[in-house]
Amino acid sequence: MSERAAPFHCPYCGEEDLRPNETGHGAWECAACNRAFQLKFLGLLARGVQRNNVGGEEI
Ligand SMILES: [Zn+2]
Repeated sequence: MSERAAPFHCPYCGEEDLRPNETGHGAWECAACNRAFQLKFLGLLARGVQRNNVGGEEI
């Protein structure tokens, strides 16, 4: 897990023109919609990592 995760798309407008914001750690700004946002790691889920249940993508 890297220290800073870079978002690929703006969560608000979906554009990819993102650049790091100088305000702080994990802060990004979108040049398309002029929004600034911050990514924050909240912690691990209590259920753990299980990808083989309760999924809607059974093949
Ligand atoms: Zn945007």
